[in-house]
Amino acid sequence: MNCVDTRGGPMVSLATAIASGLAPSGGLYVPEHLPQINLDDFNHAGSLAEVAEQALMPFFAGDKLAPYLPVICQQALNFDTVMRPLAAPHTQVLELFHGPTAAFKDFGARFLAACLTRLSSTDPRPITILVATSGDTGAAVAAAFHRQTNVRVVILYPEGRVAARQAHQLGCFGDNIATYRVQGSFDDCQRLVKTALNDEELRQRLRLSSANSISLGRLLPQLTYYAHAALQHWRQHRRKLSFVVPTGNLGNALAAVMARGIGFPIGQIVFATNANPVLSEYFHGADYNPKDSIATLANAMDVGAPSNFERLRWLHQGDQQLRAAFHAQAISDEEIRATIQQGQQRYGEIWCPHTATAVKVLEQIREPRDETDWAIVATAHPAKFDDVVEPLIGQEIEVPPALQAMLSRPAHATPIDADDKVFKECLMGVV
Ligand SMILES: *Cc1c(COP(=O)(O)O)cnc(C)c1O
Repeated sequence: MNCVDTRGGPMVSLATAIASGLAPSGGLYVPEHLPQINLDDFNHAGSLAEVAEQALMPFFAGDKLAPYLPVICQQALNFDTVMRPLAAPHTQVLELFHGPTAAFKDFGARFLAACLTRLSSTDPRPITILVATSGDTGAAVAAAFHRQTNVRVVILYPEGRVAARQAHQLGCFGDNIATYRVQGSFDDCQRLVKTALNDEELRQRLRLSSANSISLGRLLPQLTYYAHAALQHWRQHRRKLSFVVPTGNLGNALAAVMARGIGFPIGQIVFATNANPVLSEYFHGADYNPKDSIATLANAMDVGAPSNFERLRWLHQGDQQLRAAFHAQAISDEEIRATIQQGQQRYGEIWCPHTATAVKVLEQIREPRDETDWAIVATAHPAKFDDVVEPLIGQEIEVPPALQAMLSRPAHATPIDADDKVFKECLMGVV
Protein backbone atom coordinates (compact mmCIF):
# COMPACT_ATOMS: atom_id res chain seq x y z
CA MET A 1 0.00 0.00 0.00
CA ASN A 2 1.14 3.54 -0.70
CA CYS A 3 1.09 6.37 1.79
CA VAL A 4 -0.14 9.90 1.26
CA ASP A 5 1.17 13.07 2.88
CA THR A 6 -1.34 14.99 5.03
CA ARG A 7 -0.04 18.21 3.47
CA GLY A 8 -0.45 17.06 -0.10
CA GLY A 9 3.14 16.08 -1.00
CA PRO A 10 3.79 13.13 -3.32
CA MET A 11 2.61 9.62 -2.50
CA VAL A 12 5.37 7.20 -1.40
CA SER A 13 5.69 3.49 -0.67
CA LEU A 14 5.19 2.28 2.90
CA ALA A 15 8.91 1.44 3.12
CA THR A 16 9.82 5.01 2.15
CA ALA A 17 7.33 6.43 4.64
CA ILE A 18 8.79 4.26 7.40
CA ALA A 19 12.37 5.13 6.48
CA SER A 20 11.79 8.87 6.30
CA GLY A 21 9.49 9.50 9.26
CA LEU A 22 8.33 13.02 8.46
CA ALA A 23 7.31 13.90 4.87
CA PRO A 24 9.52 16.52 3.15
CA SER A 25 6.58 18.98 3.23
CA GLY A 26 6.55 18.72 7.03
CA GLY A 27 3.34 16.67 6.80
CA LEU A 28 2.73 13.17 8.13
CA TYR A 29 2.34 10.03 6.12
CA VAL A 30 -0.94 8.16 6.37
CA PRO A 31 -1.97 4.96 4.61
CA GLU A 32 -3.74 5.74 1.33
CA HIS A 33 -6.91 4.15 2.68
CA LEU A 34 -7.93 2.05 5.67
CA PRO A 35 -8.22 -1.59 4.58
CA GLN A 36 -11.06 -3.64 6.03
CA ILE A 37 -10.28 -6.86 7.85
CA ASN A 38 -12.48 -9.92 8.09
CA LEU A 39 -12.67 -11.25 11.64
CA ASP A 40 -12.86 -14.85 10.38
CA ASP A 41 -9.34 -14.49 9.00
CA PHE A 42 -8.13 -14.28 12.61
CA ASN A 43 -9.56 -17.59 13.79
CA HIS A 44 -6.11 -19.13 14.02
CA ALA A 45 -4.27 -16.05 15.23
CA GLY A 46 -3.63 -16.40 18.95
CA SER A 47 -0.45 -14.58 19.90
CA LEU A 48 0.15 -10.86 19.44
CA ALA A 49 2.69 -11.57 16.69
CA GLU A 50 0.18 -13.73 14.79
CA VAL A 51 -2.59 -11.14 15.08
CA ALA A 52 -0.12 -8.43 14.05
CA GLU A 53 1.01 -10.28 10.95
CA GLN A 54 -2.58 -10.78 9.78
CA ALA A 55 -3.75 -7.28 10.68
CA LEU A 56 -0.79 -5.48 9.09
CA MET A 57 -0.64 -7.59 5.91
CA PRO A 58 -2.92 -5.27 3.88
CA PHE A 59 -0.77 -2.24 4.78
CA PHE A 60 2.40 -4.03 3.68
CA ALA A 61 0.89 -5.61 0.54
CA GLY A 62 3.09 -5.00 -2.48
CA ASP A 63 5.78 -3.28 -0.44
CA LYS A 64 9.42 -4.32 -0.38
CA LEU A 65 9.04 -4.94 3.36
CA ALA A 66 6.11 -7.35 2.81
CA PRO A 67 8.19 -10.56 2.65
CA TYR A 68 9.75 -9.68 6.02
CA LEU A 69 6.50 -8.85 7.82
CA PRO A 70 6.14 -12.24 9.56
CA VAL A 71 9.70 -12.19 10.88
CA ILE A 72 9.48 -8.50 11.83
CA CYS A 73 6.33 -9.25 13.89
CA GLN A 74 7.88 -12.31 15.54
CA GLN A 75 11.08 -10.51 16.37
CA ALA A 76 9.65 -7.17 17.52
CA LEU A 77 6.40 -8.24 19.20
CA ASN A 78 7.82 -11.09 21.20
CA PHE A 79 6.78 -10.05 24.70
CA ASP A 80 3.45 -10.28 26.47
CA THR A 81 0.57 -7.89 26.63
CA VAL A 82 -1.59 -8.69 29.61
CA MET A 83 -5.30 -8.04 29.81
CA ARG A 84 -6.93 -8.78 33.12
CA PRO A 85 -10.11 -7.78 34.91
CA LEU A 86 -10.01 -4.87 37.33
CA ALA A 87 -11.90 -5.07 40.63
CA ALA A 88 -14.73 -2.97 39.12
CA PRO A 89 -17.67 -4.06 36.97
CA HIS A 90 -17.11 -4.40 33.20
CA THR A 91 -13.53 -3.15 33.43
CA GLN A 92 -10.25 -4.58 32.19
CA VAL A 93 -6.68 -3.35 32.41
CA LEU A 94 -4.57 -3.70 29.30
CA GLU A 95 -0.94 -3.74 30.46
CA LEU A 96 1.47 -2.62 27.76
CA PHE A 97 4.58 -2.40 29.91
CA HIS A 98 6.03 -5.90 29.78
CA GLY A 99 8.68 -5.08 27.18
CA PRO A 100 12.39 -4.48 27.81
CA THR A 101 12.03 -0.87 29.03
CA ALA A 102 8.73 -1.19 30.95
CA ALA A 103 6.64 1.25 28.86
CA PHE A 104 4.50 0.77 25.73
CA LYS A 105 7.10 2.57 23.58
CA ASP A 106 8.85 -0.80 23.20
CA PHE A 107 6.25 -1.99 20.65
CA GLY A 108 6.83 0.90 18.28
CA ALA A 109 10.59 1.18 18.78
CA ARG A 110 11.25 -2.52 18.27
CA PHE A 111 9.03 -2.74 15.21
CA LEU A 112 10.58 0.37 13.65
CA ALA A 113 14.07 -1.00 14.34
CA ALA A 114 13.17 -4.35 12.78
CA CYS A 115 11.90 -2.55 9.67
CA LEU A 116 14.85 -0.16 9.35
CA THR A 117 17.44 -2.92 9.60
CA ARG A 118 15.76 -4.63 6.62
CA LEU A 119 15.67 -1.58 4.39
CA SER A 120 18.98 -1.91 2.63
CA SER A 121 20.66 1.30 1.68
CA THR A 122 23.24 1.97 -0.97
CA ASP A 123 24.96 4.18 1.60
CA PRO A 124 27.62 2.10 3.40
CA ARG A 125 28.07 4.55 6.30
CA PRO A 126 26.62 3.64 9.69
CA ILE A 127 23.19 5.11 10.25
CA THR A 128 22.95 7.67 13.08
CA ILE A 129 19.50 7.76 14.63
CA LEU A 130 18.60 10.91 16.53
CA VAL A 131 15.89 10.70 19.14
CA ALA A 132 14.46 13.43 21.33
CA THR A 133 12.63 11.92 24.27
CA SER A 134 10.35 13.10 27.03
CA GLY A 135 11.37 10.00 28.99
CA ASP A 136 10.28 6.63 27.60
CA THR A 137 10.91 6.71 23.85
CA GLY A 138 14.67 7.16 24.11
CA ALA A 139 15.22 4.06 26.18
CA ALA A 140 12.93 1.95 23.99
CA VAL A 141 14.78 3.03 20.84
CA ALA A 142 18.17 2.50 22.52
CA ALA A 143 17.18 -0.97 23.71
CA ALA A 144 15.93 -1.86 20.22
CA PHE A 145 19.24 -0.89 18.56
CA HIS A 146 21.74 -1.61 21.32
CA ARG A 147 24.88 -3.38 20.02
CA GLN A 148 23.55 -3.65 16.48
CA THR A 149 26.25 -3.19 13.90
CA ASN A 150 26.28 -0.15 11.64
CA VAL A 151 23.77 1.77 13.79
CA ARG A 152 24.36 4.54 16.33
CA VAL A 153 21.68 6.12 18.46
CA VAL A 154 21.93 9.63 19.89
CA ILE A 155 19.43 10.37 22.66
CA LEU A 156 18.50 13.85 23.87
CA TYR A 157 16.42 14.25 27.00
CA PRO A 158 15.48 17.32 29.06
CA GLU A 159 17.49 17.27 32.27
CA GLY A 160 15.33 17.45 35.38
CA ARG A 161 12.14 16.73 33.43
CA VAL A 162 12.31 12.93 33.56
CA ALA A 163 12.02 10.57 36.51
CA ALA A 164 15.28 9.44 38.16
CA ARG A 165 14.89 5.87 36.94
CA GLN A 166 14.01 7.04 33.44
CA ALA A 167 17.22 9.10 33.43
CA HIS A 168 19.22 6.10 34.61
CA GLN A 169 17.70 3.89 31.96
CA LEU A 170 18.45 6.47 29.23
CA GLY A 171 22.11 6.57 30.23
CA CYS A 172 22.77 2.90 30.95
CA PHE A 173 23.41 1.55 27.46
CA GLY A 174 26.81 2.77 26.29
CA ASP A 175 28.40 1.02 23.26
CA ASN A 176 26.65 2.42 20.18
CA ILE A 177 24.26 4.60 22.21
CA ALA A 178 25.19 8.18 23.19
CA THR A 179 23.02 10.04 25.69
CA TYR A 180 22.85 13.81 26.18
CA ARG A 181 21.01 15.58 28.98
CA VAL A 182 19.85 18.89 27.58
CA GLN A 183 19.60 22.02 29.70
CA GLY A 184 16.16 22.80 28.38
CA SER A 185 12.71 21.39 27.67
CA PHE A 186 11.53 18.49 25.53
CA ASP A 187 10.58 21.04 22.87
CA ASP A 188 14.24 22.18 22.85
CA CYS A 189 15.35 18.56 22.35
CA GLN A 190 12.96 18.20 19.42
CA ARG A 191 14.28 21.42 17.91
CA LEU A 192 17.90 20.26 18.21
CA VAL A 193 17.02 17.05 16.35
CA LYS A 194 15.07 18.84 13.64
CA THR A 195 17.83 21.40 13.05
CA ALA A 196 20.48 18.68 12.87
CA LEU A 197 18.41 16.64 10.41
CA ASN A 198 18.13 19.68 8.13
CA ASP A 199 21.81 20.68 8.36
CA GLU A 200 23.47 20.22 4.96
CA GLU A 201 27.02 19.86 6.32
CA LEU A 202 25.96 17.29 8.90
CA ARG A 203 24.00 15.33 6.35
CA GLN A 204 27.06 15.09 4.13
CA ARG A 205 29.15 13.90 7.01
CA LEU A 206 26.67 11.46 8.61
CA ARG A 207 23.84 9.27 7.45
CA LEU A 208 21.18 10.75 9.71
CA SER A 209 17.75 9.44 10.54
CA SER A 210 15.32 9.86 13.38
CA ALA A 211 13.02 7.67 15.38
CA ASN A 212 10.47 10.27 16.31
CA SER A 213 6.98 9.47 17.41
CA ILE A 214 5.37 10.39 14.11
CA SER A 215 6.90 7.53 12.13
CA LEU A 216 4.33 5.15 10.65
CA GLY A 217 6.75 2.41 11.64
CA ARG A 218 5.83 3.12 15.25
CA LEU A 219 2.14 3.76 14.73
CA LEU A 220 1.26 0.58 12.84
CA PRO A 221 2.54 -1.94 15.43
CA GLN A 222 0.63 -0.08 18.12
CA LEU A 223 -2.70 -0.88 16.49
CA THR A 224 -1.95 -4.57 16.90
CA TYR A 225 -2.33 -4.73 20.70
CA TYR A 226 -5.74 -3.09 20.41
CA ALA A 227 -6.65 -5.63 17.75
CA HIS A 228 -5.38 -8.49 19.92
CA ALA A 229 -7.22 -7.28 23.05
CA ALA A 230 -10.49 -6.58 21.20
CA LEU A 231 -10.36 -10.01 19.51
CA GLN A 232 -9.72 -11.74 22.82
CA HIS A 233 -12.68 -9.93 24.38
CA TRP A 234 -14.92 -10.63 21.38
CA ARG A 235 -14.13 -14.34 21.47
CA GLN A 236 -15.00 -14.57 25.15
CA HIS A 237 -18.01 -12.26 25.35
CA ARG A 238 -19.17 -11.37 21.82
CA ARG A 239 -19.02 -7.74 22.94
CA LYS A 240 -17.05 -4.75 21.80
CA LEU A 241 -14.32 -3.39 24.02
CA SER A 242 -13.93 0.36 24.65
CA PHE A 243 -10.61 1.97 25.61
CA VAL A 244 -9.45 4.88 27.75
CA VAL A 245 -5.97 5.82 26.54
CA PRO A 246 -3.43 8.01 28.40
CA THR A 247 -2.58 10.50 25.68
CA GLY A 248 0.23 12.95 24.88
CA ASN A 249 1.33 13.03 21.27
CA LEU A 250 -1.76 10.99 20.33
CA GLY A 251 0.27 8.14 18.82
CA ASN A 252 -1.06 5.43 21.09
CA ALA A 253 -4.67 6.64 20.88
CA LEU A 254 -4.50 7.09 17.11
CA ALA A 255 -3.43 3.47 16.81
CA ALA A 256 -6.64 2.50 18.65
CA VAL A 257 -8.61 4.66 16.21
CA MET A 258 -6.98 2.85 13.29
CA ALA A 259 -7.63 -0.58 14.81
CA ARG A 260 -11.32 0.34 15.04
CA GLY A 261 -11.22 1.88 11.56
CA ILE A 262 -10.05 -1.34 9.92
CA GLY A 263 -12.82 -3.36 11.54
CA PHE A 264 -11.82 -4.70 14.95
CA PRO A 265 -14.68 -4.86 17.49
CA ILE A 266 -13.85 -1.69 19.39
CA GLY A 267 -16.50 0.58 20.93
CA GLN A 268 -15.59 3.99 22.30
CA ILE A 269 -12.10 5.50 22.43
CA VAL A 270 -11.50 8.16 25.08
CA PHE A 271 -8.36 10.30 25.36
CA ALA A 272 -7.13 10.89 28.91
CA THR A 273 -4.60 13.73 29.15
CA ASN A 274 -2.70 15.39 31.95
CA ALA A 275 -3.12 19.12 32.66
CA ASN A 276 -1.91 20.07 29.16
CA PRO A 277 -5.30 21.20 27.91
CA VAL A 278 -5.12 21.39 24.12
CA LEU A 279 -7.06 18.19 23.37
CA SER A 280 -9.71 18.49 26.08
CA GLU A 281 -10.38 22.10 25.00
CA TYR A 282 -10.71 21.09 21.38
CA PHE A 283 -13.05 18.19 22.06
CA HIS A 284 -15.16 20.44 24.27
CA GLY A 285 -15.65 22.78 21.30
CA ALA A 286 -12.75 25.27 21.29
CA ASP A 287 -10.48 25.79 18.27
CA TYR A 288 -7.38 23.62 18.07
CA ASN A 289 -4.83 25.82 19.78
CA PRO A 290 -1.36 24.30 20.39
CA LYS A 291 0.60 25.78 23.27
CA ASP A 292 3.91 25.34 25.08
CA SER A 293 3.83 22.22 27.19
CA ILE A 294 3.61 22.40 30.96
CA ALA A 295 5.43 19.96 33.25
CA THR A 296 3.21 17.45 35.07
CA LEU A 297 3.56 14.22 37.04
CA ALA A 298 2.70 12.25 33.89
CA ASN A 299 5.79 13.60 32.13
CA ALA A 300 5.67 11.39 29.04
CA MET A 301 2.39 13.11 28.20
CA ASP A 302 3.70 16.69 28.59
CA VAL A 303 2.79 17.73 25.08
CA GLY A 304 1.39 21.10 24.06
CA ALA A 305 1.07 20.36 20.34
CA PRO A 306 0.19 16.68 19.78
CA SER A 307 1.84 15.81 16.46
CA ASN A 308 -0.60 13.08 15.52
CA PHE A 309 -3.55 15.46 15.67
CA GLU A 310 -2.90 16.17 12.00
CA ARG A 311 -3.41 12.48 11.22
CA LEU A 312 -6.55 12.27 13.33
CA ARG A 313 -7.99 15.26 11.46
CA TRP A 314 -7.06 13.74 8.13
CA LEU A 315 -9.01 10.59 8.99
CA HIS A 316 -12.23 12.56 9.66
CA GLN A 317 -14.53 14.88 7.74
CA GLY A 318 -14.18 18.15 9.56
CA ASP A 319 -14.17 19.24 13.17
CA GLN A 320 -17.82 18.47 13.85
CA GLN A 321 -17.49 14.83 12.90
CA LEU A 322 -14.21 14.53 14.76
CA ARG A 323 -15.61 16.04 17.95
CA ALA A 324 -18.63 13.77 17.78
CA ALA A 325 -16.43 10.68 17.48
CA PHE A 326 -14.26 11.12 20.59
CA HIS A 327 -14.08 12.48 24.07
CA ALA A 328 -10.98 13.94 25.74
CA GLN A 329 -10.61 14.84 29.38
CA ALA A 330 -7.73 16.52 31.24
CA ILE A 331 -6.61 15.36 34.68
CA SER A 332 -4.70 17.60 37.10
CA ASP A 333 -1.62 16.57 39.08
CA GLU A 334 -3.74 16.70 42.22
CA GLU A 335 -6.16 14.20 40.71
CA ILE A 336 -3.29 11.99 39.55
CA ARG A 337 -1.92 11.92 43.11
CA ALA A 338 -5.32 11.12 44.61
CA THR A 339 -5.94 8.35 42.06
CA ILE A 340 -2.60 6.72 42.83
CA GLN A 341 -3.25 7.02 46.55
CA GLN A 342 -6.70 5.43 46.25
CA GLY A 343 -5.56 2.73 43.82
CA GLN A 344 -4.60 0.26 46.50
CA GLN A 345 -7.73 0.59 48.57
CA ARG A 346 -10.22 0.87 45.72
CA TYR A 347 -8.80 -1.78 43.37
CA GLY A 348 -5.71 -3.31 44.98
CA GLU A 349 -3.60 -1.71 42.21
CA ILE A 350 -0.53 0.48 41.91
CA TRP A 351 -0.77 2.89 38.97
CA CYS A 352 1.95 4.82 37.18
CA PRO A 353 1.07 8.54 36.86
CA HIS A 354 0.12 8.13 33.16
CA THR A 355 -2.15 5.17 33.72
CA ALA A 356 -3.71 7.06 36.64
CA THR A 357 -5.05 9.70 34.22
CA ALA A 358 -7.01 7.00 32.38
CA VAL A 359 -8.29 5.49 35.64
CA LYS A 360 -9.50 8.90 36.77
CA VAL A 361 -11.17 9.73 33.45
CA LEU A 362 -13.07 6.45 33.50
CA GLU A 363 -14.21 7.12 37.06
CA GLN A 364 -15.46 10.53 35.93
CA ILE A 365 -17.27 9.56 32.73
CA ARG A 366 -18.78 6.27 33.77
CA GLU A 367 -22.51 6.56 34.48
CA PRO A 368 -24.10 4.36 37.15
CA ARG A 369 -25.37 1.17 35.50
CA ASP A 370 -23.18 1.78 32.43
CA GLU A 371 -22.69 -1.66 30.89
CA THR A 372 -20.01 -0.70 28.40
CA ASP A 373 -16.98 -2.99 28.61
CA TRP A 374 -14.01 -0.70 29.23
CA ALA A 375 -10.27 -1.33 29.14
CA ILE A 376 -7.92 1.06 30.90
CA VAL A 377 -4.69 1.22 28.95
CA ALA A 378 -1.73 0.93 31.34
CA THR A 379 1.21 2.53 29.53
CA ALA A 380 4.12 2.18 31.98
CA HIS A 381 5.14 0.09 34.96
CA PRO A 382 4.79 2.10 38.19
CA ALA A 383 8.32 1.12 39.27
CA LYS A 384 9.66 3.48 36.59
CA PHE A 385 8.11 6.35 38.53
CA ASP A 386 8.97 5.27 42.06
CA ASP A 387 9.90 8.84 43.02
CA VAL A 388 6.30 9.96 42.43
CA VAL A 389 4.41 6.81 43.34
CA GLU A 390 6.16 5.38 46.41
CA PRO A 391 5.65 8.42 48.69
CA LEU A 392 1.95 8.39 47.76
CA ILE A 393 1.34 4.73 48.51
CA GLY A 394 3.81 4.42 51.38
CA GLN A 395 5.41 1.22 50.15
CA GLU A 396 8.14 0.05 47.83
CA ILE A 397 7.20 -1.12 44.36
CA GLU A 398 8.65 -4.38 43.12
CA VAL A 399 10.91 -3.74 40.13
CA PRO A 400 10.51 -5.97 37.05
CA PRO A 401 13.71 -7.91 36.23
CA ALA A 402 14.49 -6.19 32.91
CA LEU A 403 14.26 -2.76 34.54
CA GLN A 404 16.31 -3.98 37.51
CA ALA A 405 19.05 -5.15 35.16
CA MET A 406 19.25 -1.69 33.60
CA LEU A 407 19.22 0.06 36.96
CA SER A 408 22.14 -2.03 38.18
CA ARG A 409 24.33 -0.97 35.27
CA PRO A 410 26.28 2.32 35.54
CA ALA A 411 24.73 5.24 33.65
CA HIS A 412 26.26 8.21 31.89
CA ALA A 413 24.77 11.20 30.09
CA THR A 414 26.72 14.17 28.74
CA PRO A 415 25.34 17.57 29.72
CA ILE A 416 24.72 19.91 26.81
CA ASP A 417 23.23 23.38 26.32
CA ALA A 418 20.08 23.62 24.21
CA ASP A 419 22.15 25.19 21.45
CA ASP A 420 22.02 24.01 17.83
CA LYS A 421 25.71 24.82 17.18
CA VAL A 422 26.92 22.96 20.26
CA PHE A 423 24.91 19.88 19.33
CA LYS A 424 26.23 20.01 15.79
CA GLU A 425 29.80 20.02 17.10
CA CYS A 426 29.01 16.97 19.25
CA LEU A 427 27.65 15.16 16.23
CA MET A 428 30.62 16.12 14.07
CA GLY A 429 32.80 14.59 16.79
CA VAL A 430 30.90 11.30 16.56
CA VAL A 431 32.61 10.27 13.31
C1 LIG B 1 4.61 8.21 25.51
C2 LIG B 1 3.77 7.87 26.67
C3 LIG B 1 2.41 8.24 26.73
C4 LIG B 1 1.76 9.07 25.65
O1 LIG B 1 1.62 8.39 24.44
P1 LIG B 1 1.37 9.19 23.09
O2 LIG B 1 1.47 8.19 22.02
O3 LIG B 1 2.44 10.24 23.01
O4 LIG B 1 0.01 9.81 23.19
C5 LIG B 1 1.66 7.80 27.81
N1 LIG B 1 2.21 7.09 28.81
C6 LIG B 1 3.50 6.73 28.79
C7 LIG B 1 4.04 5.94 29.92
C8 LIG B 1 4.32 7.10 27.73
O5 LIG B 1 5.63 6.75 27.72
